[in-house]
Amino acid sequence: MRFSDKKVLVTGAAGGIGATIVRQLRAEGARVAVADRDVSGIEADARLPGDLLAPAYADGLPQAAFEALGGLDVVVNNAGVITRGKVTETTDADWDLSVGVNMLAPFRISRAAIPLLAARGGGAIVNTASCWGLRPGPNHAVYCMTKAAIASLTQCMGMDHAHQNIRINAVCPNEVNTPMLRTGFIKRGFDPDTAVAELGKTVPLGRIAEPEDIADVVLFLASDAARYLCGTLVEVNGGKAVG
Ligand code: NAD
Repeated sequence: MRFSDKKVLVTGAAGGIGATIVRQLRAEGARVAVADRDVSGIEADARLPGDLLAPAYADGLPQAAFEALGGLDVVVNNAGVITRGKVTETTDADWDLSVGVNMLAPFRISRAAIPLLAARGGGAIVNTASCWGLRPGPNHAVYCMTKAAIASLTQCMGMDHAHQNIRINAVCPNEVNTPMLRTGFIKRGFDPDTAVAELGKTVPLGRIAEPEDIADVVLFLASDAARYLCGTLVEVNGGKAVG
């Protein structure tokens, strides 16, 4: 029970990776506030539905979680969207969505959470970047840019707030078997099960990640076992270190 009585906010809690993080945290004793557009079906200790593109919602989430749980020890900025295409194929709406959810929301949430964590003597923030934030892949220019930005922001915040005993790190997955990946295959006319199996053959470990493979690392980064990690970017890629 690494998270006995720890109070945790998780965004993107209804998604593939987010739902797994919430389940695992609660199984290890955490009290969890879940944030997503629709959180009605999620077992949680507090439900904070909303749209991360709304500045007031993102700004207010840490305080709302603090009040609902009676404190706040850990924030997991997991929500994300993927937009596809080269720059020449990217609309203003794609830009606003990607930057809004993947960059601006974790910035707003971290900015609001850090003073709350500091006032309690410390805590942890775990952001979700991507392998593509470290080495970009083709045809996802703005997505890769946002993930590079959150990776950089994590390194900066990890350095700047370590003295407040706040550890800020990021997990960088490669392909994960979640709705984000599967809906992309469906949109492009592929059968998702076949496509996931084919993609698995390109990974040295022989399969793409399942949400549990990522959630386990998120929980490690949030736990005291990662007590000396600040501003690190942890790649979780089954040995597939290229975009
Ligand atoms: P997912 O689509 O299953 O879940 C993402 C969640 O974020 C959804 O529940 C969605 O409702 C929520 N969200 C999106 N926009 C929102 C908004 N405006 N307001 C509130 N909530 C919003 O995707 P996932 O695969 O579980 O992704 C989780 C994280 O992992 C994301 O940051 C993603 O970029 C990252 N990631 C995923 C993969 C992958 O292959 N699946 C690879 C690398 C990184």
